[in-house]
Amino acid sequence: MRIVHIKYCTLCLLLLIIAKQAQAIFYDEPKVVYIQPLGHVEKSDINMVKSAIEHFYHYKCIVKTEVNFTRDILADSKTRYEANRILSKYNTNENLLILTGKDIACANPERHSTEWGIFGLGYRPGKTCVISTFRLKRNASAQLLHSRLTKVCLHEIGHNLGLNHCTSGDKRCFMNDARGTIKAVDQEQIFLCEKCRKALST
Ligand SMILES: [Zn+2]
Ligand SMILES: [Zn+2]
Repeated sequence: MRIVHIKYCTLCLLLLIIAKQAQAIFYDEPKVVYIQPLGHVEKSDINMVKSAIEHFYHYKCIVKTEVNFTRDILADSKTRYEANRILSKYNTNENLLILTGKDIACANPERHSTEWGIFGLGYRPGKTCVISTFRLKRNASAQLLHSRLTKVCLHEIGHNLGLNHCTSGDKRCFMNDARGTIKAVDQEQIFLCEKCRKALST
C-alpha cells in the first residue's frame, strides 16, 4: 500500500509540474517585483511605487512585511544609510525594490564625496534597487511627490533591466542621470525616449 501511495504522489507531482509549465507558456504570467519597505514607509508611498511599476512595466507587485533598520547598513557617518550596503544585504534571486523614508547615500568620486545623498540606486543589470523618499519629499506637494517617486522608481527598475543613463539628450527621458539634483528629476517626464526604449527591447 505504501508503494502505491508514493507512486500516486509522484504522478500528481509530475502532472502539476507539466500543468504549471503549460500555464507559463500559454498565459505568459507577469513578472513579479517585490516591494520591501525598510523601516516605516507611508502606505500612500508604497501604493505610488506599486502603481508606477504595474502601469509602466506591467509587472505584478507584491508588498512584503516591513523590515527594521540595522547598524550594518549605516553609512560611515552613522547619520544615514549606505545604499550599496542595503543592496548587497537584501540582494536575492527575486526582483526586489527596497523603499525607505530615511536618507540614503553612496560614494560619488566625481563630487569627491564618500557620502553623496541620493534618491535611489539599482544594480545594472540586476534584480535589486533601493529608493528613498527622504529627498523627494522636500518642498513637495502630494502631486509633485507622486511624479518624482514614479520617475525615480521607473529609472531604478530601468537600471535593473540593463539600461544605462540616457545619452539621447532628451531631458524628458526618465533614464537621464539626475546627478543628485531634484531639478533634473523635475524636468523629466514619465517617458522613455526612443533610444532607451530600443535598448530595453534588445
Ligand atoms: Zn532615454
Ligand atoms: Zn541612474
